[in-house]
Amino acid sequence: MAKECIFCRIAAGEVPSDIVYQDEDFLAFRDISPQAPIHILIIPKTHIASSAELTEEQHELVGRLIITAKNLAEKEGVAKEGYRLVINCGSEGGQVVPHLHLHLLGGRRLADKLG
Ligand code: AMP
Repeated sequence: MAKECIFCRIAAGEVPSDIVYQDEDFLAFRDISPQAPIHILIIPKTHIASSAELTEEQHELVGRLIITAKNLAEKEGVAKEGYRLVINCGSEGGQVVPHLHLHLLGGRRLADKLG
């Protein structure tokens, strides 16, 4: 756990959040500033600063991160209509919180452009 990391603090239960799922490796909670009716962040509980920090050995973790998002999309009722999964990396990628997280966005038609 990184002491100053807000998402590590959420994972440790030190900061409240609207948790929708967790297991040994992942935590999923609702974004505090939702950009869509369904906006969930899925994080690995272990601190990884961004996708830029990932190693080859973590490929299984990354695979399970996406499977977790897929399962949540089904649970939240957006799988049939469709949804978007986003990982921002670094300043130009729009990453604000330096703890790897996958955005699950759904429940409305999302803009065609990626920005
Ligand atoms: P990113 O720009 O990809 O780093 O996304 C960070 C996301 O974290 C933003 O959508 C924020 O609204 C969200 N966020 C920041 N702090 C919290 C928090 N305490 N609880 C839930 N979501 C948060």
